[in-house]
Amino acid sequence: MNVTELFGCNVFNDEVMKNSLPKEVYKSLRRTIDAGEPLDTSIASAVASAMKDWAVSKGATHYTHWFQPLTNLTAEKHDSFIEPSGDKVIMQLTGKSLIVGEPDASSFPSGGSRATNAARGYTAWDPTSPAFVKEGTLYIPTIFVSYTGETLDKKAPLLKSMTALDTQTKRLLKLFGIECKKVSTTVGPEQEYFIIDEKEYLKRKDLILTGRTLFGALPSRGQELEDHYFGVLKTRISEFMRDLDETLWSYGILAKTKHNEVAPAQHELAPIFTTTNVAVDDNQLTMELMKKVAQKHGLVCLLHEKPFEGINGSGKHNNWSLSTDAGLNLLDPGESPENNARFMLILACVIAAVDEYQGILRASVASAGNDHRLGANEAPPAILSVYLGDQLGAIVDSIVLGKEYVPKKAVPGSIGVPESPIFPIDTTDRNRTSPFAFTGNKFEFRMLGSTASVADPNIVLNTIAAESFSRAADALSDAKDFPKACKEDTDKLLKADYRIIINCDGYGPEWEPEAERRGLLNNKTTADAVPECFKKENLDVFVHQGVYTEKEAIARANIQLENYIKMINIEALTMLEMAKQDIYPSVNAYVAEVCATVAAKRAVSDKIVCAADTELVEKLSMMNDAMIAAVNKLEKDLSEMPEGEVPASMKMAHVVVPDMEEVRRCADSMEKLCSSDYWPYPTYTDLLYSVK
Ligand code: ADP
Ligand code: MG
Repeated sequence: MNVTELFGCNVFNDEVMKNSLPKEVYKSLRRTIDAGEPLDTSIASAVASAMKDWAVSKGATHYTHWFQPLTNLTAEKHDSFIEPSGDKVIMQLTGKSLIVGEPDASSFPSGGSRATNAARGYTAWDPTSPAFVKEGTLYIPTIFVSYTGETLDKKAPLLKSMTALDTQTKRLLKLFGIECKKVSTTVGPEQEYFIIDEKEYLKRKDLILTGRTLFGALPSRGQELEDHYFGVLKTRISEFMRDLDETLWSYGILAKTKHNEVAPAQHELAPIFTTTNVAVDDNQLTMELMKKVAQKHGLVCLLHEKPFEGINGSGKHNNWSLSTDAGLNLLDPGESPENNARFMLILACVIAAVDEYQGILRASVASAGNDHRLGANEAPPAILSVYLGDQLGAIVDSIVLGKEYVPKKAVPGSIGVPESPIFPIDTTDRNRTSPFAFTGNKFEFRMLGSTASVADPNIVLNTIAAESFSRAADALSDAKDFPKACKEDTDKLLKADYRIIINCDGYGPEWEPEAERRGLLNNKTTADAVPECFKKENLDVFVHQGVYTEKEAIARANIQLENYIKMINIEALTMLEMAKQDIYPSVNAYVAEVCATVAAKRAVSDKIVCAADTELVEKLSMMNDAMIAAVNKLEKDLSEMPEGEVPASMKMAHVVVPDMEEVRRCADSMEKLCSSDYWPYPTYTDLLYSVK
């Protein structure tokens, strides 16, 4: 296999465009892609025709506008290229079909932003993300808006947030004498996932319907030996990963790193970072292809944040930075950050944004699945904090606390093995327990869940950073002594938002009370986190940066709560079905068998005591009763749901979820006592260790 030839072979990329488009058309399109100039729609026909010819040469018969409704998934509706021509057909894609589509929007979530009778929705081409051919169809990335112009997707606000950040960063850079055409945010999302055997998966209703196990006692072997992390890849996994890499490369996705993660059956894939909009699309496609490629290997890819209780869940680390079109990374501290006024101001602005808008940043990653990580003593905690590392931490401490700062130089390391090379040891270690950590020349936001679209947190990050930059630009634009004013503004911001900076272990027990003393938010569930979005100052920032109207922002928060309520409801119903129809009768059947054994033993001799049998029968009967009591409580609480998203989600989080935990606790203890011949589902051992 020739990777350089394979890479991007299914993508209508720059090279293909250059070769297939008239020169002027190509140049005009590039101006839109590179510098964000408005699209000249008169070039659409030429682009459509070239795209179609190329797609047909790749075997495509259909095209689809590919969009991202508010579901974390992508949506597509395929149309063939055929147009009648006499007795025959020709293959055609018109400029209009490239630019706009009109899918019926009525069955997508709109959070009340669109009346049901006004079902019209439009998709519109996003030329900044390349089209590609997959399974015989040309995929055209698009945004999705309603008839009245409200956004119904994640791409439109993402692009708007990128534009806002571009505008405000350029204003700020101008004050430092830097002129550039475009500032882009870049993202590299590290994706965690589980792989299990399809045969085992198909025996678990909970995995099929909810993506996670609702029952399952801990296996005798978990992750305590720490032998899976970076361990040797099993043959089937390695073959799957290889196939996946090749598939991703063919779609121009920069798959770079792959390894085993901490939990058994858990793995990670990290691409090389790219412009945020493309990174989001690539990640959507990556998640889809992970599932499809796994299926080809008789495996199932679980993207849920917490498929298995008691072992690590999966996240998606969002590495975020921003750079100019000339390649200047604005989060690169350089040799001596303390003297780099531009870097220090930008850093202070980002810290201030994260502190001030911690509520919506936390809310942007809230979901039923992610609640199992963020609110539940897992990595990272639900409290937002910023970790800067030793060097920047010391610089900030010198500013805020007046401590002396002694610059540390990167020292050549020697590990005491003469044969090994000398290499520079970094000036700073990493803290993996803070959800927003500075890692060299980027921030790594670690709160995102593994199933979620990368768009959500980046919409918020870009918007709040743009707001912070715009305030700094306003404050400094008329400064008489710019260097002095800049330093003062930087120091002021760092002092005001110092509370968000963490230097301790964010998983440790001392952080929660400390964070509370500092007044940081600690919203453990989606129901508690999302209402932050309704606060005036949080709505205002989106309106001010032109990312959402107030109505759109409210609609989105409502959809997020609705999704949460629906998801918990599905989980609860699945759980009830499994408990009543499978677990309860299975335990009874086993109890009946033990009873029959007792009777049989006693028929032989009344000297046989059957103590263990009797005890087991008593225990299991009581536990099965207890489970049904818990089932009844869950059923009742579920049937009495209050009206309105906020009260209903609160009831889900604080009544229904604890009810479900009780049902599970009863069932899991019975699993440990019940004969494995009778237990109706594959156990955690079967699920986690059956792939060889
Ligand atoms: P880790 O040790 O956390 O796995 P890596 O150095 O492997 O970190 O990088 C993780 C991710 O960060 C990769 O996807 C990488 O491409 C991305 N990354 C590196 N530089 C940037 C940047 N300037 N902007 C956005 N992402 C970046
Ligand atoms: Mg990482």
